[in-house]
Amino acid sequence: MKTVDQVLSLIDTLTLPEAKQVDEALHRYIHQVEQWQRPPANVLEQLSAPGGYYRLELVKCGKPTCHRCPNGPAHGPYWYRYTYDASRKRQRKTYIGKQRPSQEAPSNSGV
Ligand SMILES: [Zn+2]
Repeated sequence: MKTVDQVLSLIDTLTLPEAKQVDEALHRYIHQVEQWQRPPANVLEQLSAPGGYYRLELVKCGKPTCHRCPNGPAHGPYWYRYTYDASRKRQRKTYIGKQRPSQEAPSNSGV
């Protein structure tokens, strides 16, 4: 049985206050995941990847002597792979480099 079926089959066993509690938790979770998936402004492109996605990003180096970052465009762009580590509930970011990762179709163009 799929997890979603298990969850749905339990709904009518809840009292109304319990159902409202679940409703709140679900909304919080959906909001959180949507926030997580929304690309920030420095992301130029996003592609689907196994277990996550690739992003092409402009990067600020943070060096106080850098003349490039304050005036833009920042460094790069560089490709990163993002995956979600479910056991640690954390996003993992891996540097790939300037070369575009090979994959099929863009998941989210127009970023
Ligand atoms: Zn810089």
